[in-house]
Amino acid sequence: MSECCSSKVDQASNTQLSNIGHLPVAIIGGGPVGLAAAAHLVSKGESFVLFESASEAAGNIKQWSHVRLFSPWKYNIDKAARNLLELHNWKAPNDDELPTGGELVEQYLNPLTKLPVIQPYVHYNAKVIAISRKGLSLVKTAGRGILPFVLHVMEDDKRIVFEAKAVIDASGTWSSPNPANSEGIWTEDELSINKKIFYGIPDVLGKHKERYSGKKVLVVGSGHSAMNALLDLASVKEHAPETEIVWIIRKSNVKDVYGGQDNDSLPERGSLGTRLQRLVDTGTIQVLSSFNIENFKEDGELVTVTGRRNEETIFIEGINEVISNTGSRPDMSFLREVRTDMDSALESVNTLAPLIDPNVHSCGTVRPHGEKELRQPEPNFYIVGAKSYGRAPTFLMATGYEQVRSIVAAMTGDWEAAQKVELELPETGVCSTGSVTTKTSCCG
Ligand SMILES: Cc1cc2nc3c(=O)[nH]c(=O)nc-3n(C[C@H](O)[C@H](O)[C@H](O)COP(=O)(O)OP(=O)(O)OC[C@H]3O[C@@H](n4cnc5c(N)ncnc54)[C@H](O)[C@@H]3O)c2cc1C
Repeated sequence: MSECCSSKVDQASNTQLSNIGHLPVAIIGGGPVGLAAAAHLVSKGESFVLFESASEAAGNIKQWSHVRLFSPWKYNIDKAARNLLELHNWKAPNDDELPTGGELVEQYLNPLTKLPVIQPYVHYNAKVIAISRKGLSLVKTAGRGILPFVLHVMEDDKRIVFEAKAVIDASGTWSSPNPANSEGIWTEDELSINKKIFYGIPDVLGKHKERYSGKKVLVVGSGHSAMNALLDLASVKEHAPETEIVWIIRKSNVKDVYGGQDNDSLPERGSLGTRLQRLVDTGTIQVLSSFNIENFKEDGELVTVTGRRNEETIFIEGINEVISNTGSRPDMSFLREVRTDMDSALESVNTLAPLIDPNVHSCGTVRPHGEKELRQPEPNFYIVGAKSYGRAPTFLMATGYEQVRSIVAAMTGDWEAAQKVELELPETGVCSTGSVTTKTSCCG
């Protein structure tokens, strides 16, 4: 196909890099998946440069460092990264133990970033703010695939432009939380109470204890983050019984939040639902299901939330603190000059949407996928990791490790390895298809 007539890029043009071959591959984001991409590039003898907006590795995970992961170490370490670490006397953690976010960084990601084959190529305090093709805007097609990428990076408050032959965007979604408002819009009233809303998982049992102990706390959301926050608040209530915990979810049946419980292949993930159900059944946590938040009103020191529930307007008054866990969304703002193909509902990589759409299933596992599925209309540009799932909630690190292994194989011309994608993920034990949900093993 001649270049003038092709809008999508084929495999051949994706490898046609002879005139820019000396440039490094740029990686955006120093989380587990960005760093795994770096490890795979190193193991194939490819040069890279990695930009991380935080002052140290895994800036997003550091924000939930107190939270214990539900997947054990054996699923959390990338194979290429493990091989590199083992060459440098690294002491591997026990495969079956569950690290906290902080331990994941200290025992695995920090040692990885300190390796002599990685460290010199990592830029911290370096936020990518725009990407384009050298000399071309989004509209121009001719010659696109063989021009370098230009990345505009704010590094230590200075704007620097880097060139790269390929880009792997592993910038995650955690830094762009969704609003609590059920329409997904940032409203003035929600922004005006920002001192009383925590977006994420506060360290309720540690440094944020005073903020929540003895207070009326509203938790919004039905994912694992909300579940973690609720369980910690319940522990606080054991010592400060006046603590009131109100939980609102959009789902109509709270049982759909509990997950696979005993059927979950990851016992820690399953136990979140079991422990939560007990707290709801005993009245420690009050739940309002089918609740759609319309607005927030500040009332002196307190907040009132208004919402719709089964055609009725409900007011929840006297709230001291809100914890919002309604998920997060990818930041596409710096990709305006790059040709992307994202799903219109999930904002995920388009081809992944049918595999991960929470409207359709919640198996927690996903069909193996690699370079072919992740290929974008922009040659040699890939969105990977949590960002590849967009707003869908079930991403696991192991999925991201296989994504970048396949992409790096393709970039280095090993198409056989790129296409041979193998992924075994632990199932949640819940199979939901449309309106039918069963607790069983599924999605096989
Ligand atoms: C509370 C919680 C618990 C989880 N538990 C598990 C678990 O048990 N098992 C599991 O497999 N998965 C788990 N996940 C899901 C997922 O694996 C993690 O979110 C993981 O961190 C995703 O890795 P990532 O590298 O794709 O993105 P991130 O870890 O989010 O990393 C993205 C990085 O990019 C940086 N960045 C962002 N924008 C820019 C920019 N413009 N320029 C430069 N840098 C930028 C950020 O600072 C960040 O360091 C959990 C997620 C959460 C939130």
